[in-house]
Amino acid sequence: MEYFNYYCKRIVKKNIMYIDDKLIEWVTATDDIHADFVKKNFYNEILLANPKTEKKNLDSQINIIKEIVKTFSNKPWITQKEISEKFELNKDQLLKINELISETDLLQDLILKNGYAKKYWNSIIPFSYLTEKAIKNEYSFPKRIALFPGVSCMFYCGFCGRNQKAKYPLNIIDDSLEMYKKLFDDSPDYTSYSVSGGLEPLTNPKIGELVNYAKSKNIKLPIITNGYSLTESFLEKNPGIWDSDSLRISLYGVDAESYEFITRVRKGFKQVYNNTISFLKKRNQINKNLKFGFNFIIIPENLHQLLQIPELIKRINENVLNGEGVNFLTLRDDYQSVTDHSTERDTERKYRLDKSMNSEERKKLQENIFKFEELKKKLCPNLYVDYGYSLETLFKGQVDSGLIKVNGKQMRKFGFTQISVAIDLYGDVFLFREAGFLNREGNKKMIIGRISKDKSLEIIIKNFLEKNQPLEFEQDDSRFMDSFDHVLTALVNQAEKDKEFDIPFSLGPIKLRKQNKKMRVGNNWYSDVT
Ligand code: SF4
Repeated sequence: MEYFNYYCKRIVKKNIMYIDDKLIEWVTATDDIHADFVKKNFYNEILLANPKTEKKNLDSQINIIKEIVKTFSNKPWITQKEISEKFELNKDQLLKINELISETDLLQDLILKNGYAKKYWNSIIPFSYLTEKAIKNEYSFPKRIALFPGVSCMFYCGFCGRNQKAKYPLNIIDDSLEMYKKLFDDSPDYTSYSVSGGLEPLTNPKIGELVNYAKSKNIKLPIITNGYSLTESFLEKNPGIWDSDSLRISLYGVDAESYEFITRVRKGFKQVYNNTISFLKKRNQINKNLKFGFNFIIIPENLHQLLQIPELIKRINENVLNGEGVNFLTLRDDYQSVTDHSTERDTERKYRLDKSMNSEERKKLQENIFKFEELKKKLCPNLYVDYGYSLETLFKGQVDSGLIKVNGKQMRKFGFTQISVAIDLYGDVFLFREAGFLNREGNKKMIIGRISKDKSLEIIIKNFLEKNQPLEFEQDDSRFMDSFDHVLTALVNQAEKDKEFDIPFSLGPIKLRKQNKKMRVGNNWYSDVT
């Protein structure tokens, strides 16, 4: 009866669990706040979900269960070996505890949706079931493919890894379009695509046709662009752009001067600003569902500009009177600390930004994030802000050490083709996304083959895996990985270690790792939904 009463008090609507604020406060607190309340709730929920559990066993385990839940909500990369050592549990004990945690919805919700690592969990869960194939080098069509259809780029961003002298010949454009079409034709429906760079995608004169064809195949394409070419005449020549799912402009400053500092192109700001306004007006007439946003990469040099962005967006929105204005803003972390540019290797550059963010600057960033939120509420309250992996933790009040990073020696020697690859205009298939810049120094070894209108991605990947020749990486090869590649590497490495420890993901504490075979990867720039 006690549990029946408890059960009746829980509010569960349409699979959404409403969690008491005290539990959420506890999971992000450094101390054991609301200890008795948390313990009682855990106890009741575990018994409800696992009725065969002996109460006396649970009495002795409940404190460790609490600790493990909190640990995973903050550190998704922790291995089963580390958990076993930290809490002095043998494998059998840990397996039993994993089962209790895995089967209890409340604990799963606290770990995946309410801790500091919420964004990480959001990102990795749809890929977790593929780690087994990645470890065994078994073929599976990639779940996520980045297309780099740009021909050239007019900017020279200080943090960009591109070879600034390289561009593709225009006479390959038609064949490349046919190649991308074949790729779409061959894709299973679980694969998600994005269009970005590489170089600037709107420099491809067939980009509209590419997006239009994807739409005809039910493929939602988000486009990432620097927005410089997004003029009215460009849109008239490329009406297919209106078939994209979302369009995100990388914002490199808040005025002409700051734009010039990053891109070396002074008129960049004015052009992008004007293009944005005319794009939004047309968007509201042609396809209201197409979400539009900006991405802003925060580096030490532009920390203060964060506070000028709400005002900028307000100004833009005031010029768009026929509907919604800017829908979303993605804020991203100090890019360079992830890409580890090498002064010796990436030499083909006009200039570079060399400094990474130190801990004082991260504290300043946190202050600015709080001030930014206030300004946003006042000036553009409808704007959805996505803080990305590590800024989310700063936003929630914790000064962390930045993005997760792995070094060259920890990189996967066969990549993770089952999960992610990038494909450029030649059809070259890159294992990691920051390698996908034409003639970037040292990137050749990251190319596993070339697809064409006659040669499928399946053949290229199968050939690569069957050859069974692991790549040798050097420490600074991690510069070829973007932040998501770092996250995926950490995920596959964790799965491998857990497997070696005889507690694979299938016996671990996270239920969704075992269940998401069909989960599609959403574009969560503009909403909290994965
Ligand atoms: S970051 Fe993008 S816009 Fe800037 S130089 Fe590189 S490819 Fe061009």
